[in-house]
Amino acid sequence: MTDTSDLAPQPGQLRVLHVEDNELDAELVAQALRRGGFSTAVVVVQAEAEFERELRSHPPNLVLADYNLPQWTGMGALDVLRREGLDIPLILVSGTLGDVKAVECIKRGATDYVLKDGLARLPETIRRALQEKGLRERQERSDAALRESQAQLAALIHSALDAILTMDEKQSIVMFNGAAEKMFGCSEAEALGQPIERFIPQRFRAAHSAHVRRFGETGITNRAINKLGTLRALRADGQEFPMEASISRTQVGGRTLFTVILRDITERELAEKTLAAKMDQLARSNADLEQFAYVASHDLQEPLRMVAAYTQLLAERYRGKLDENADKYIGYACEGALRMQTLVQDLLAFSRVGRNGAACRGVDCEAALKEVLLHLGPAIHESGAVVTHSTLPTVWANPSHMTQVFQNLIGNAIKFRGKEPPAISVQAENAGEHWLFSVSDNGIGIAPEHVGNIFVVFQRLHTRTEYPGNGIGLAICKKIIEHRSGRIWVESQPGHGSIFKFTLPCEAPAEKEVSAEPMSMAATASNPGR
Ligand code: ADP
Repeated sequence: MTDTSDLAPQPGQLRVLHVEDNELDAELVAQALRRGGFSTAVVVVQAEAEFERELRSHPPNLVLADYNLPQWTGMGALDVLRREGLDIPLILVSGTLGDVKAVECIKRGATDYVLKDGLARLPETIRRALQEKGLRERQERSDAALRESQAQLAALIHSALDAILTMDEKQSIVMFNGAAEKMFGCSEAEALGQPIERFIPQRFRAAHSAHVRRFGETGITNRAINKLGTLRALRADGQEFPMEASISRTQVGGRTLFTVILRDITERELAEKTLAAKMDQLARSNADLEQFAYVASHDLQEPLRMVAAYTQLLAERYRGKLDENADKYIGYACEGALRMQTLVQDLLAFSRVGRNGAACRGVDCEAALKEVLLHLGPAIHESGAVVTHSTLPTVWANPSHMTQVFQNLIGNAIKFRGKEPPAISVQAENAGEHWLFSVSDNGIGIAPEHVGNIFVVFQRLHTRTEYPGNGIGLAICKKIIEHRSGRIWVESQPGHGSIFKFTLPCEAPAEKEVSAEPMSMAATASNPGR
């Protein structure tokens, strides 16, 4: 074995395994390669065993082989390459090869041949051989990538949870995945070649055919058919079910194919129906409850007025005329009747929110605030409160509701003040789709565990002797704000004041409320702090 290269193979060098017994010929070939501009590492071998060893230890890019050797032949080298499964170009370099033999060798798999007295042709022949090999390799790589992506696509389609089926221009099924088999209760083998109508209930078939005919005549564009729709489909056992379908049209190899992706929405429809029924039930029971609260609080007022008036009369007429206990008991009865009256009035005010409110209109919040500050004038004066505000927007609301919200929040900020005179700030900022309002104070604050409770009807954190009130104001605020699709909450720490925040949509509501019985601010007059 002779290595005719000066150096060991370098990256980018052409590795050549040359089967040749004649050293001079080998040198001439090496020269021809150098002259042809190749940087080569050539290893010369003479026998099969050597060839095999070299092939395995240093796989070459190219084999050059003399046709006739004392103990072997160039075509023997080709057999070894075949046996080893190697796609390496083999060029015969021979002094004696006639045209007939040369053609035969190429037929058997040799890449080309060059005669020893025409070695000037060798570089060009090698370049062509390497180029062809490069092309072959690229083709193989792209074939393999195509096969892999086809296999992945097939696996994806067949394992998809949605049913996927493809049909041709004649509406015959040409692909039917596993989910489609389950959905329609029909195997792929049974479905292939069948018209799609087989899976459409009888009564929709005529419309479907008309659609297909129109489609055939007018050629609907992809955009028109790439849409989701809810349809009814037919299982193989004759059972109908609702489904959602999207259809797309593709051109494949000159054929128009339609791929339909289907989803059985039986359970979703059922869930939607159940939900709608529950919502309906809930709405009705809410309306019943509101009606009950309204009627009860409204109708209780009259007998309560009687009780309050007559206990008051008893107190005035008989004070000091009966014994001491009688005076005390009559006093309790008067207090109880008055308290019950305020509770019932508050409950009525609460149940009226959203019931008979004036129609929504643009409410200038600055004007509403001004009205509230006027109304709260005595409490502001007495407490030394300072109320500041930013520019306030116009919002879509029931006007008396807006004044009520400001009055309840500012009234509370004054009532639940700390040692310092109340410093109250009303702010509003545009937060995209809604306005974010805040009413902050420097009052006593609220413990974190109570921040959720205080919006519940009649929930209070103090006795009435500590702070007057019934615990209805914030519940009313919540009902008003939520009625306008807003949200209300408080951020607070005991001793560090509170910030009540609420949102209201910037957009005018779609529906119109009917005004029948505008709610007056006096409805919350039971709270003396307001
Ligand atoms: P009321 O003022 O009649 O008690 P509300 O519903 O307006 O009823 O308030 C419920 C409770 O929330 C109050 O009793 C009070 O404990 C607490 N609260 C409301 N506003 C404030 C505030 N600005 N600072 C501290 N506590 C407050």
